[in-house]
Amino acid sequence: MQKDFKVTSQNNVWFGYFTRFEQAGFTTACSARLHGESDIVPGTLNLALHVGDNPEKVLRNRQKFAEAIGVKAERFTTCAQVHGSKVQVVSECLIGSGALSFAGTVPETDALITNLADVPLLLFYADCVPVLLADPETGAIGLAHAGWRGTAAQIAKKTVSAMTEVFSVRPENLLAAIGPSIGGCCYEVDDVVRNEMPDYESCFMAKCDGKYWLDLWQVNRQQLMEAGVAPSRISVAGVCTNHNPELFCSYRYENGRTGRMGVCLCRKG
Ligand SMILES: [Zn+2]
Repeated sequence: MQKDFKVTSQNNVWFGYFTRFEQAGFTTACSARLHGESDIVPGTLNLALHVGDNPEKVLRNRQKFAEAIGVKAERFTTCAQVHGSKVQVVSECLIGSGALSFAGTVPETDALITNLADVPLLLFYADCVPVLLADPETGAIGLAHAGWRGTAAQIAKKTVSAMTEVFSVRPENLLAAIGPSIGGCCYEVDDVVRNEMPDYESCFMAKCDGKYWLDLWQVNRQQLMEAGVAPSRISVAGVCTNHNPELFCSYRYENGRTGRMGVCLCRKG
């Protein structure tokens, strides 16, 4: 397991990135909650338009984030995440979907893939697991949203498969990364969740009260390996959002009333 996650700040915008992706020509950025204009949690950098925040302020937050990470905000390509496992190919006509209004976003989708350069894919998270994929050979990228339902539906594996089918990616060439999200240290689940993931028993740690601690990072890492990604090419940020609520939006820690951080993945042009 590689830990090459670094945190930096540009123009007072804090974000984390994966060095191996950067070295291979891909921009990665996992935002933090600091220094924004949101109303939903005052002063935070909420990047999502679907959580009841003031849209103008969200767009200003996105602009600030885009400038800090060196992409164009009007090209942000987003989807309406529904905890499913649909993977959408982003072709020319979908670039910028949802960048300026939620109405324009790609509907009912939890993973985006493309082989186009300069297309900043942007998905939204507050505890759920971001899975990033990039192929230095073909230039294809993929970004998935894996909460427990998406993970149970094998979205990481389906995203690799889609990249293989559509862009002739060889899984062993892929770089993969798992961004900041709720860790096994904090993610308590019950039998409902456990029964949906019978193949990943070792990722559940039994508690005394009949519940479990679930390590979604490990489940997703295993799925990536099952899909053919080399273990040595999978980076895990190892940063728990619930553990660091001053830095990150955490749906659990904030009882649902929170903004969303963005994870952006883009092949540099
Ligand atoms: Zn934790």
